[in-house]
Amino acid sequence: MDSRHGRKRIVILGGGFGGSYLAKELSKRRHGLDVDVVIIDRNNYFIFYPLLIEAGCGSIEPRHCTVPIREFAPKAELLMAEVSGLDIEQQRVHFQLVGDDHCRSIEYDHLVVALGSVTRVMPENVVSGVREHAFFVKHMSDAVTIRDRAVELLELANAIDDPEERRRLLHFVIVGGNVTGIEVVGELEVFVREASAHYRNVSDDDIMFSVYEFNKRLLAVLPENLSVWATRHLANRGIDIHTGAGIKEVHADHVVDSDGNVVPCSTVIWTAGISPSPALKQLDGLPLNKFGGLQCQSDYQVVDTDNIWGMGDCASVEGRNGKPMPPLAQIAIRQAPQVAANIAAVENGRPTKPGGVELQGVLVPLGRHRGVAAIKGIRIHGFLAWAMWRAIYLLKTPRLGRRVSVLADWTLNAFFRKDYTQLGMNPGSRREMIRQHEVRDPDEP
Ligand SMILES: Cc1cc2nc3c(=O)[nH]c(=O)nc-3n(C[C@H](O)[C@H](O)[C@H](O)COP(=O)(O)OP(=O)(O)OC[C@H]3O[C@@H](n4cnc5c(N)ncnc54)[C@H](O)[C@@H]3O)c2cc1C
Repeated sequence: MDSRHGRKRIVILGGGFGGSYLAKELSKRRHGLDVDVVIIDRNNYFIFYPLLIEAGCGSIEPRHCTVPIREFAPKAELLMAEVSGLDIEQQRVHFQLVGDDHCRSIEYDHLVVALGSVTRVMPENVVSGVREHAFFVKHMSDAVTIRDRAVELLELANAIDDPEERRRLLHFVIVGGNVTGIEVVGELEVFVREASAHYRNVSDDDIMFSVYEFNKRLLAVLPENLSVWATRHLANRGIDIHTGAGIKEVHADHVVDSDGNVVPCSTVIWTAGISPSPALKQLDGLPLNKFGGLQCQSDYQVVDTDNIWGMGDCASVEGRNGKPMPPLAQIAIRQAPQVAANIAAVENGRPTKPGGVELQGVLVPLGRHRGVAAIKGIRIHGFLAWAMWRAIYLLKTPRLGRRVSVLADWTLNAFFRKDYTQLGMNPGSRREMIRQHEVRDPDEP
């Protein structure tokens, strides 16, 4: 990986929203930089997260919420690899190609760390059983697994006679009532109720959704009136809302809430916050804050380093208001040109400029063609907010082909019922299939 013909090389760790948009920006050579760009990511695609839950719940094809990195940033080189270490002195990053055990390394002139975030899981002594029993919403497989599980539970509930057990099976608990949790409950509730029409022994009363949020209100990122509207809308749909309340134990067949109540349920979806990528801890010499985030100056340069930059969810960068910029795709995308400009400034011996990207707005779909939105001081709720969410994210979906596919999915969905077949992702069913196919020793008892 080291024949460079004298050209400078920028290595980007993570080809998600931040990394891929930066690679695209650098390849435009708008900043007078003519460099080689290499992205290292464990996947050859990034997820267009705003559509992930719709993809999981069958409103769009799962593949249609992914963006192939090679097509999105065709001038960058992509290494599909796991980042495993850093040697700051030698200016080298260590990595392992996916499907290969060898540890390799690549030299950089500038390194940009854009490794994103993971779902935050509390330590066992604070909330127990989350890793073992809860479901997350971060990867494509998570979204499809939740949908598969919902279908499996409907099948199971339909086949049993005990009404109490049927209600337990079809009780879905969502922990975390901010944007992701509310999107999940809004979409999944529609999916499960519509799917239940195919099951003769399952009635509407057997299905229950509950949301637990530690804050005093749902959707704390939105102005209060929108949060109140959303809460009322969800409650009118029969969704049980618990604010100022959390979950302290997660078990396979129940949860225990912060007041000690035992709540029978079968599926817990954990959407209670995010943490910076744990991969940062493997990058020796990079300063991390108490939350594990990469400490950066306001121009995105990592504190006390040369030519190392941080952006996106994994980086703690002060915005214009003096607070760290929020971990959102809209922020990572708009940081990309600022990072590119500052790298160019360093290369050309000019001073860098502080960045600072402000939140443009928050749009939250609630399912059933309703939503809430606060954009540049304008507050909207209901059908208009939902339609706006769809229009904006359709326009923001990278590449024309993907946009047309998403639009086609939505259009078909408006006229036909969603597909309720499983995609074979539920770990329970996979385990059972593997068990059945195991070749057993005939002498084994
Ligand atoms: C369900 C959901 C819905 C969301 N909806 C919205 C929304 O509507 N609007 C909005 O603005 N934001 C939304 N977000 C937030 C948004 O997705 C993130 O803020 C954004 O993706 C951050 O970009 P990033 O580049 O920092 O990280 P990411 O896009 O996550 O990219 C990080 C990349 O690093 C790679 N990576 C990580 N570790 C390694 C490693 N060790 N080796 C190799 N590669 C590695 C990953 O594969 C990934 O491609 C949502 C998030 C979720 C989970």
